[in-house]
Amino acid sequence: MKENLNTLVLATHNRDKVQELKSILKDFPVEILTLDDFPEIGEIEETGTTLLENALLKARTVHRETGLPAIADDTGLEVDALDGRPGVYAARYAGENVSYDDNVEKLLREMLNVPREKRTARFRTVVAYVDNNQELWAEGFIKGMILEKKQGTGGFGYDPVFWVPERKKTFAELSLNEKNEISHRGVALRKLRDVIVENRVDIFLT
Ligand code: IMP
Repeated sequence: MKENLNTLVLATHNRDKVQELKSILKDFPVEILTLDDFPEIGEIEETGTTLLENALLKARTVHRETGLPAIADDTGLEVDALDGRPGVYAARYAGENVSYDDNVEKLLREMLNVPREKRTARFRTVVAYVDNNQELWAEGFIKGMILEKKQGTGGFGYDPVFWVPERKKTFAELSLNEKNEISHRGVALRKLRDVIVENRVDIFLT
């Protein structure tokens, strides 16, 4: 299969993720498409039990279906007081086809009696890159605390309850650039960029 190495597909329909990923990748000399450009692909079911399995599954599927290099991310929220839950199942924490708010409400309910000092958590992201010749990946994480109630209106998902001690703000109170500088997704993607450059993948050398 001949690939167009100047085009990359982000393996997601999630507009919030697309906005962050595009902003982090803005210096790459490539045209960036998303699954909105391939409506025939639809939602890709995340059947893996780890972030890496799911990221590779999504990137491989999109590469196979489009014939283009693909990048996918999978993100989990690991809450210590809940023994690491919701973890890889963060999107479906409150059930199938639920809203961001439903998941946040469930998290806050489950943590109702957890004192401040025990509300530690981590966002973890694995990003995977798949083309005809290679599969590469990288991981990023950020430590924080789960607040007792929502604070801030930016970001998405669990951002309004994820407090970042080093910034004394929730992710939802940071600008897009401020979040990307320190976030699990920003760290993972910048590491992936280094891995890609080390592996001399043509797409980023032109
Ligand atoms: P997935 O990577 O699409 O499986 O995301 C898992 C879940 O975590 C989804 O419910 C997202 O809303 C949430 N999530 C992913 N990334 C972030 C983030 O950067 N901030 C807050 N929530 C996120």
